[in-house]
Amino acid sequence: MNIELIHKHFLDSSGASTDTRKISKNCIFFALKGENFNGNLFAQEALDKGAGKVIVDDEAFHKNTGETILVENVLLTLQQLARFHREFLNLPIISLTGSNGKTTSKELINAVLSQKFKTVATKGNLNNHIGVPLSLLAMDKETKFGIVEMGANHLGEIKMLSEIAEPDYGYITNFGKAHLEGFGSIEGVIQGKTELYQFLKKHNKKLFVNANDPKQLANSEGIDRITFGTPQSDFDIKLLNSTHHLLLEFKGIQIQSNLVGAYNFANLSAAIAIGAYFKVSPEKIKAGIEAYVPSNNRSQLMVNGTNTILMDAYNANPTSMMAALENFKQAKGDNKIMFLGDMFELGKEAETEHQNIVDFLVENSFGNVFLVGSNFFKTTSHASHIKQFETFDELKEAVKSNSPKNATILIKASRGMALERILEFI
Ligand code: ATP
Ligand code: MG
Repeated sequence: MNIELIHKHFLDSSGASTDTRKISKNCIFFALKGENFNGNLFAQEALDKGAGKVIVDDEAFHKNTGETILVENVLLTLQQLARFHREFLNLPIISLTGSNGKTTSKELINAVLSQKFKTVATKGNLNNHIGVPLSLLAMDKETKFGIVEMGANHLGEIKMLSEIAEPDYGYITNFGKAHLEGFGSIEGVIQGKTELYQFLKKHNKKLFVNANDPKQLANSEGIDRITFGTPQSDFDIKLLNSTHHLLLEFKGIQIQSNLVGAYNFANLSAAIAIGAYFKVSPEKIKAGIEAYVPSNNRSQLMVNGTNTILMDAYNANPTSMMAALENFKQAKGDNKIMFLGDMFELGKEAETEHQNIVDFLVENSFGNVFLVGSNFFKTTSHASHIKQFETFDELKEAVKSNSPKNATILIKASRGMALERILEFI
């Protein structure tokens, strides 16, 4: 069946779904195959739960009842449909990628642009080859602005996602040491992320660039760009205070964010600049930023008993870990404690990158450190303020018998460590 026809079915439906746990009445269910599952097996369940149509690629599950549509490859069909739909929509889309801060920036940009436009932004972290199509399919003719997060862990991915979403504007948060396993090196990361720049350049589209980041400036030369963050750039934004929640100034107006960590200055500035570029008034920009409260353990400040906690256990890689430590070093408090867990997906760099973090902590002693995970366990520290644990349970036992009081605590690790579990014991 051709895409145009599938698109007609899509427009008649209540939306696209790839998960039988989230079937809405009359949706189109895409029976995707994954490494460990075959969505075709759930086609009937989707129909039983109310799906109007199911797209399958396994003949065995095709029924000639008009409800199932057999295609060559469900994933490709989902991507082709999203691309077709994107052209049908005729609205501006801004895409963002980068190593750290994509979701935070995306949420902030949405908070600002939605003050003026009817926006649709990527839900949560749905930023891959399935998430990007689903984000596009969540937009309709009423949508006036699309904001799409794009993630990548290998070369070619951002190019492919850009060809589906066809962004009119782009923003790269930063180039950092994330997903080294797939990219090989920081050069690989830069090459992978700048696939977005290449796309924008080829199609005469525009780019937003953080002028405080020399790597961004160097890699975006020759592209139509809008700069922000310094007095010389198109949009000057000042950081007034970063000891607690970041306080900024834009066009003489103070903006009090709910975010901690100096690295969030870049994320906040991007949202302010993008809002200003699209003529959201400074008052509305302020309202949007001030209304945004982070969730999901991303850079949250919380109080737990007598302790103040900087919860950043959503994710970690060498760059964001370093940014968090530099920030915590400046934080106030006489009794600072760090709970740091392993950073994943570093491939052959894992040993060096974990050791780099430990070396930094040895040279800079600004609090007691509890390291957990098999990678951190293998590092050498020889410093009495640093303790190493191989497993979470070992850490838990140590903390339970000597839980911190009146402390300022940083918690950071890769998602897989789920280090927020430590909250219960401190
Ligand atoms: P993912 O790869 O999971 O999609 P992401 O790029 O969307 O991640 P966020 O979810 O916004 O990033 O933030 C994850 C963590 O990265 C934060 O908790 C924070 O520690 C760190 N971080 C956020 N912004 C920056 C930044 N601009 N520079 C460095 N680190 C950052
Ligand atoms: Mg994200």
